[in-house]
Amino acid sequence: MKIALIASEVFPFAKTGGLADVAGALPKYLARHGQEVIVIMPKYGTIDAGKFGLQDTGLEIAVELAGETSNHKLFVSDLIEGVKTYFIDAPEYFEREFLYGTPDGDYPDNSLRFGLFAKSVPRILEATGFEANILHCNDWQTGLVPVYLKKEAARGGFLSRVKTLFTIHNIAYQGLFKREELPKLGLGWEYFVVDGLEFWGKVSFIKGGILFSDAVSTVSRKYSEEIQTPEFGYGLETILASRRDVLFGIPNGIDTEKWDPATDGSIPARFSASDMGPKRECKRALAEENGIAYSEDAPIIGMITRLAAQKGLDILSQAFQEMIDLGVNFVILGTGDEEYHCIFERFKEKLAGKVGINIKFDEALARRIYAGSDMFLMPSRYEPCGLGQLIAMRYGSVPIVRRTGGLADTVSEFDPREMTGTGFLFTEYSAGALTETVKRALNLYKDQPRWQRLVANAMAYDSSWDRASGEYVDLYHKLLGE
Ligand code: ADP
Repeated sequence: MKIALIASEVFPFAKTGGLADVAGALPKYLARHGQEVIVIMPKYGTIDAGKFGLQDTGLEIAVELAGETSNHKLFVSDLIEGVKTYFIDAPEYFEREFLYGTPDGDYPDNSLRFGLFAKSVPRILEATGFEANILHCNDWQTGLVPVYLKKEAARGGFLSRVKTLFTIHNIAYQGLFKREELPKLGLGWEYFVVDGLEFWGKVSFIKGGILFSDAVSTVSRKYSEEIQTPEFGYGLETILASRRDVLFGIPNGIDTEKWDPATDGSIPARFSASDMGPKRECKRALAEENGIAYSEDAPIIGMITRLAAQKGLDILSQAFQEMIDLGVNFVILGTGDEEYHCIFERFKEKLAGKVGINIKFDEALARRIYAGSDMFLMPSRYEPCGLGQLIAMRYGSVPIVRRTGGLADTVSEFDPREMTGTGFLFTEYSAGALTETVKRALNLYKDQPRWQRLVANAMAYDSSWDRASGEYVDLYHKLLGE
């Protein structure tokens, strides 16, 4: 099969969250399964072209937007093993400090930025001669790809035969814009209908992906069910339910070669399930770096997260003082909404010596936290899949998570009698339930032989893309009627 994966962020080139991890790892494993794969993404100003080996292909494509035709260079990188990654160059739209917006809000021209990106995809396939069978689109930024493709299908050729899969990584981000944007995107008012792109008087990019693609998937089985309910569907539950027959849940994996405590060059000491001694060194260094007094008896709880309401930060801040009083330390790394920056800066002042608060995006520090923490907290209100808990398990940091979405699918409660399970879960979204669960974890932590068994279970959890990419291959085959 020839598969083109389209994403607005791809690790290691550009990343704000889990989408980038998926888009950077899945193609590599698909290629290893014998598929021909390319990746298409925007050439952001934040991408270090030298470091990532971007080369000018010499190819140029023309795209019409807002009544004007503009020419765009195509760059390429071979950095992802077995895969060519193409970058569309549109400096007026992508040469900026951030991917989607500043901490104060989204860029006002995001409809044109990602409209152009979507419109460029068929042209890139033509220019590169990559006659794809499958277009795998991801999240609202690529929602118009299947829309433009359907529009062009009448012209015949390979573009009329391509099958499209649209993967929802987070349904709360929908790409909603004023109706006036529609003509600028080259789409007529016939698209502004309930079974088209219209959503409460606005143009919805994500609806394009959901309604115009051949199949839709989400990144865990539970989330594929949850989004068909009003609580999780963010207004799209009925539309999703109407596509139930072609709606699939495929759990994400992680790139277990890139996330490996036995080879990770960013952590102070390397360890593995059969040689756990050096993890203590990682904890000691993490404590020191965050101004926390090191103690074997006091566990460090790590958190690495976008600072967004989804991530359970309200119950976290309500429970924070009480959890500290139980004798745990926290190391938190995150960026996002200004509101949470302020809350955490206050904790930093008040609880110095017991917590490390790092308001930034820092890949290497993230690795030091996964490696140096004893437990990893994700009290999410909802979580489509969640990668943090998978990475944490791989680094022997025991996940404490809320029983929702992919967290419920991937973490199982430790049973101290049977010695089975990989972490701790709570169901009620409340500070009380969170604190009780941390207490449960703390009690088990005092029983080190059992705790070490739990750590071993977590580290043995199979989160590899080897498994998960096979499920995508099966789905692509199904789409092609094979
Ligand atoms: P989401 O996609 O909702 O942000 P996931 O758990 O699926 O959440 O993926 C988050 C990814 O982003 C993980 O790889 C995590 O390590 C990384 N990450 C999140 N915030 C930061 C940060 N401030 N610095 C470094 N890495 C981060």
